[in-house]
Amino acid sequence: MGSARTVVIVGAGVAGCIFAGAVAKLSGVQLVVLEEATAGDHSTSGTGLNIGPNAIKALRLHEPELLADLLRVSAPWRRWRISDVDGTAWQDWDLRTLAEDAGIRIRWATLYDVLRERIRNWIQYESLVTRVQYNADGLLTVEYHSPNGIKRFDGVELLVAGDGRYSRVRRDLSGIPECAYYGVAIGRLMVPDTLGGLISDYEQWFNGPNRLLAFQVPADSIYIAATIPMSVGGEITNDLYRPDFLRARYNPVDRTACPAAAWIIDQLAGSASRIHWARFQDSSPCFRDERGRALYLGDAAHAMLPTLGQGATQAIEDACLAGTVFRARWDSIRDSPSGLPVLLRGIESLRLDRVRFAMALSINAADTIRALVDSEAGTREKQSPEFLAELSRLYGDVPSEAHVVAVMKEE
Ligand SMILES: Cc1cc2nc3c(=O)[nH]c(=O)nc-3n(C[C@H](O)[C@H](O)[C@H](O)COP(=O)(O)OP(=O)(O)OC[C@H]3O[C@@H](n4cnc5c(N)ncnc54)[C@H](O)[C@@H]3O)c2cc1C
Repeated sequence: MGSARTVVIVGAGVAGCIFAGAVAKLSGVQLVVLEEATAGDHSTSGTGLNIGPNAIKALRLHEPELLADLLRVSAPWRRWRISDVDGTAWQDWDLRTLAEDAGIRIRWATLYDVLRERIRNWIQYESLVTRVQYNADGLLTVEYHSPNGIKRFDGVELLVAGDGRYSRVRRDLSGIPECAYYGVAIGRLMVPDTLGGLISDYEQWFNGPNRLLAFQVPADSIYIAATIPMSVGGEITNDLYRPDFLRARYNPVDRTACPAAAWIIDQLAGSASRIHWARFQDSSPCFRDERGRALYLGDAAHAMLPTLGQGATQAIEDACLAGTVFRARWDSIRDSPSGLPVLLRGIESLRLDRVRFAMALSINAADTIRALVDSEAGTREKQSPEFLAELSRLYGDVPSEAHVVAVMKEE
């Protein structure tokens, strides 16, 4: 058996932490997770998340202890109701008819707390990775800024990009990914729940194509996501931070907003200056570098549209499956120079088609929130057996450990 192999994970986010938890237990691995944030700092994550049933299934099959920890600090996502802003229901799905597992609703900061606590011995905070490059010996060098100045790791045998949508690692090793824009702005906000239960599980309300979304997250907060059509590829404008602009977009002119929607509109208008707005965009998927030294996971591999709540959800699937691949095959490849590329190709073949499917369905499901659409007709079309079958596939088609092992035998 040779000496320990250096594995560096960039980013202690959703994918990075889960994969780190799997790799840390392997023999002959020297692991470090570089994270730019300071310990306990979640300032960029002050919102909520709905995590889809497919991530819960992935955790149940591959990371059951982590799932148990997350279920303790979250609420179940069981229903998905869509209404006109006046409260007329257009759709009310019970997710149990579409999936084996319920999803969860959770604070982003809580999710990070749970994930980072499990790998606390390996995280190096305040370490911003600024450059990654191949060496003459075929290994990698990772340069990062820390409170003690510029530092580097040489001789990195496996580098994992868990550094999100604007991944430095992917950019340096595989180039800037192609991005596509979809002509929708999304604003997110979390506020105290002063409604006494009027909003609980996942709901959406439409005023034309302008859509409100809200759900309760533990403890006692309401997460709000509001979308408004914008020009494709255009910039976020100052209008979006004006209370009167938001009221005009979401308040109907010919009918009255229902109490829940009216409350959300008041919250948006009252906090207009602190809403975090972003554009709907995704990026071309890619799971590894050409030389077989770097693995890309989560948003670094495939940023996707937020329509179906699949960003963190797919990041969890990625990390769970990649962890199982490493657990199943690490001992047999760790001393072979050609072993690592085989593992990375295996992860790609397990994930690429599935991620393309999730991305395409997320685009398809965004049809009701674009300019000049009939949102009610578009929502009602989603009751079709075809769309529901796609949703069931999204929520359920997660491979077991036995399937992963079988795929890896073919690599
Ligand atoms: C406001 C908001 C709401 C969302 N809601 C949902 C939702 O409801 N459901 C859902 O499934 N998805 C949602 N998403 C998307 C989801 O958050 C992401 O898809 C998910 O977090 C991606 O996980 P990741 O592990 O790839 O990256 P992240 O969780 O973003 O983690 C990346 C980590 O890398 C660190 N990092 C970045 N660059 C560097 C560097 N150079 N050096 C060191 N560290 C670095 C960051 O600090 C961070 O800790 C939402 C996103 C936003 C912004």
